[in-house]
Parts: sequence; structure tokens; C-alpha cells
Amino acid sequence: MKQLESKSVVLLHHHLKALRLPTITAECEKIARRAAADNVDHLSYLLQLTEAELLERERKAAERRLKSARLPTLKSLESFDFAARPSVNKMMIAELARCEFIDKRENILFVGNPGTGKTHLAIALAAAACAKSYHVRFFRVTELVTHLIEARDERSLLGLKGRLAKLDLLVLDELGYVPASKVGAELLFDVISTAYERTSLMITTNLPFESWNEVLGSERLTGATLDRLTHRCQIIETKGESYRLRDAKARIRTPHAAAAKGSEETSTEEPDAGLEGGSATR
Ligand code: ADP
Ligand code: MG
Repeated sequence: MKQLESKSVVLLHHHLKALRLPTITAECEKIARRAAADNVDHLSYLLQLTEAELLERERKAAERRLKSARLPTLKSLESFDFAARPSVNKMMIAELARCEFIDKRENILFVGNPGTGKTHLAIALAAAACAKSYHVRFFRVTELVTHLIEARDERSLLGLKGRLAKLDLLVLDELGYVPASKVGAELLFDVISTAYERTSLMITTNLPFESWNEVLGSERLTGATLDRLTHRCQIIETKGESYRLRDAKARIRTPHAAAAKGSEETSTEEPDAGLEGGSATR
């Protein structure tokens, strides 16, 4: 009898593997023992198994989406100090985290000085979108422009644009730190035009609109870019002084408390975060 049972378990595992149900394979015996102990009927047992399989699939898919979004670091809305940035409406950001703007193909523009939390908010919202089954990709603008120019030189631009077109949300971080070349500006404009009303864009910039000319190089391109970007767009201004600067000042005022806080922070901080403001060319 025992031998027969173990034989059918082996066969069951084989069938489940062929059907590509890894979680059910891993959990079926454990859940069967629990079901027997709790007097659970067959259909409820099957329900528990299929639920476990679906949950694990969704978890893995979310993990894959997060990985392919290539966020430079992980930031959350919980760790954003809204009291320190009163120009940013907490309710509005919470609403954006529900991602309806993506369904409506709306754009989000974060405008403000360096260190005011634009990238933090963009990353946190991008991560929220990954968790909600949207396909997201994060680029620093300079990185995307480099990719575009390389792809054009290698005649693989169509492939790259095809991959971008499949996204639900494209995050373009730091528009304006380094002026793009004429070719770079045109390729970037092309990405923004293609995304128009198809893919949501989330852009962070330290530039007021008047200065976009300097980045994009021509009034024609700037006008056309702004026209598309701001058509269906929410603009969030992160007014005020740099959070890092504020933090550093607080440390100087209260060195002991700040030192303890600092040691907590370094574990979650990306290694080059402190250089970001300093590397700006503007
Ligand atoms: P920006 O993109 O506007 O230059 P960042 O988002 O990179 O600024 O912020 C700089 C650093 O300060 C990051 O480590 C970020 O997590 C932190 N930071 C900025 N604003 C806040 C805030 N309001 N609450 C918590 N951390 C913040
Ligand atoms: Mg930034």
C-alpha cells in the first residue's frame, strides 16, 4: 500500500511538472495533509492548490517586471517625508500610485531643484506600477539618448523603439542635466512623440520650461515636445531646498541624533546618490 502511494506521488509530480505547475508540485502533499486534518473536501483542496499557484505566479511576474524596469535603487512612498516637501500633495501622490494615469495615458512631470525628491517619487511610483502589472522602464535621459544613438549607429533603432513601444510607463529621469546633441535631441523627441497618447511618460527635470530650448537645441523641437508632453499631464513641483542639504544641516545642528539616523540610511542608499547633485553640469 505504502509503495503504491509513493508510486502515485511520483507519477503525480511528473504530471504536474509536465503541466508546468511548480507551486502545486511543491505544496500538494503539505496542503493534502492539512486538508485531511481539517476535514476539507476535494474541491476546497483543489481551490487551495490553484490559489497557491496563481499567487506565486503573480509574485514572480511582479518580481520580473520590477527587475526589467531597471530602477536605479528602490524607494517607497512610505519613506518619503511629505512634511518636508509641502509643495507635494500627499493625497495626489497616493492617487497616482493607483496608476489610473497610466490607463488614461497621462504624463507626469516632476519639476524642481536638485535634491528635492523628484527621482525618489518617480521611482516609488514606478515600483507601484510594476506591482500593479504595468510594464515600466526607467532611464536617465542621458542613458536613453546614448542607447538611441548607439542603436541608430548599429541599425537596431527599430528594435529599441519596438521595445519602448511595448511599455505602459516610461520614466525619463533628469531631463536637462546634460544638453543633448542635435541628433540626441531629435531621437529623444521621436521617443516622446511616439509615446504620445500610447505610453505614459514620467519625466523629472530641474529645468523650468523656458530653459528647455537649451537642452533640445531648437525652439521648434522644444515647442513640439512641450506640446505633446503637457497635453495630458500632471505637473508636480518639488519646491524648496535640497532634502540632502537640509539633512546635512540637521546633522550639523544635532550631531548625535543625526549620526544614528545616518547609519540607518546608508544601508538603503544607492552608492552614488551623494554625487548626483555634484555631477550636474548645470
Ligand atoms: P532629485 O531627483 O530631486 O534631485 P532625489 O529624489 O534624488 O532628488 O533626492 C535626493 C535624496 O534625498 C534621495 O536619497 C531621496 O531619497 C532623499 N529625499 C529627497 N526628498 C525626500 C523626502 N521628502 N523624504 C525622504 N527622502 C527624501
Ligand atoms: Mg533626480
